[in-house]
Amino acid sequence: MIRFQQVSKVYRGGRQALQKVDFHLRQAEMAFLTGHSGAGKSTLLKLICAIERPSDGQIFFNGHDITRLDNSQIPFLRRNIGIIFQDHKLLMDRSVYDNVALPLRVELASEKDIKRRVSAALDKVGLLDKARCLPVQLSGGEQQRVGIARAVVNKPRLLVADEPTGNLDAELSQQVMRLFEEFNRVGVSVLMATHDTSLLSTHDYRRLDLHQGHLREIARGA
Ligand code: ADP
Ligand code: ADP
Repeated sequence: MIRFQQVSKVYRGGRQALQKVDFHLRQAEMAFLTGHSGAGKSTLLKLICAIERPSDGQIFFNGHDITRLDNSQIPFLRRNIGIIFQDHKLLMDRSVYDNVALPLRVELASEKDIKRRVSAALDKVGLLDKARCLPVQLSGGEQQRVGIARAVVNKPRLLVADEPTGNLDAELSQQVMRLFEEFNRVGVSVLMATHDTSLLSTHDYRRLDLHQGHLREIARGA
């Protein structure tokens, strides 16, 4: 699904965020991306979504080299990836429904399709009854679930999540984790950046660990 080959990223100004990173995440695989603040987790996720470009190396998405996509092709890549941020990046002046509908409106889906798929996504995260609410009327955990519904509404094969439980308490974090596991069970690949130690200790998934831009695997159960 995703393959990194000797990927390095140096930001303008000279900060080296990733150094010769190699890994392969298979279809339907779930993995944690761990490491201290500043280790390069966000950078790695941004490279997958072509929010940032690598300085060196190659990145393959389903066998396609996405390293040198031109800007017009990026929307087609993003359509296959559900992106979830810690701060969920919801539009606060739009309803829950409209927030989740956003990726479909970008694709110019019909209103009938939009209604069906938004309802299905909200149902999956348990928020069907909140469709008409504004995000401010929801709790933090509910807002994060709206972000997840928006990420999965066009049925991506890959979910990429950057500290999705960073602002949630333990109970809500487990709830969000269970949602990711449900998507994973039906074949969606999940790569989740986290330093939530309670999640890491209760879920024994593959772990890719970044340390100052260097990636290494941590064996399961370690
Ligand atoms: P993490 O997500 O693990 O906290 P980041 O990928 O955000 O790590 O950052 C890795 C390093 O790259 C840090 O030193 C950070 O300050 C730097 N960095 C991140 N984004 C930029 C940017 N847009 N410009 C310059 N440096 C950046
Ligand atoms: P995160 O919590 O996702 O790791 P950060 O707080 O590190 O995010 O960074 C927030 C934003 O600022 C990101 O878009 C990141 O790319 C950018 N950024 C981080 N470090 C730097 C930096 N040293 N110079 C410029 N931009 C940065």
